[in-house]
Amino acid sequence: MSRQLASFKLHLRAVATGLKYLFLPNRITVYYPEEYIELPEGYRGLIRYYPDRCIQCGLCAMICPASAMKMYRTKTDRKGRPGINYQRCIFCGFCVDICPQNALETTKVHDVAYKSLEEMILPPEKFSQEPISPAVAGGARKLKPVFDEERGLRHERV
Ligand code: SF4
Ligand code: SF4
Repeated sequence: MSRQLASFKLHLRAVATGLKYLFLPNRITVYYPEEYIELPEGYRGLIRYYPDRCIQCGLCAMICPASAMKMYRTKTDRKGRPGINYQRCIFCGFCVDICPQNALETTKVHDVAYKSLEEMILPPEKFSQEPISPAVAGGARKLKPVFDEERGLRHERV
């Protein structure tokens, strides 16, 4: 079989797969952002910072393996407060685990889009704002995944 024919067959198969999932009502993807999947407790999404609980110990910045968390110091605040760089964060959760004050919490928000790389760097003031999922803010229908013996997975409205 020539290489061209083999390549043509592969493309044909890819198109057939696309068509199948376009018309098959059994697909397991959801219509984001009209729908979103409720994530489980403990999901490690964007991190929320609570400045009122923070004792400015700096442990979160010290433990961060990706150098994503750093302390922002000023002349009047030598200890500083943490900010995060989401260009670097690997969502390991080490900073949350080590914080002695529970001043950092993981959220279920994972779908924030940034217009520039600079926007992904959050100094303490921005880091302390609650992350908001655009789908949730837009009133998307909440779905939960359910295991299905025949299809493997389907989604039900919550
Ligand atoms: S989740 Fe991990 S990588 Fe991200 S800021 Fe915290 S320690 Fe650093
Ligand atoms: S580890 Fe917690 S208390 Fe210490 S600086 Fe970070 S957020 Fe603040």
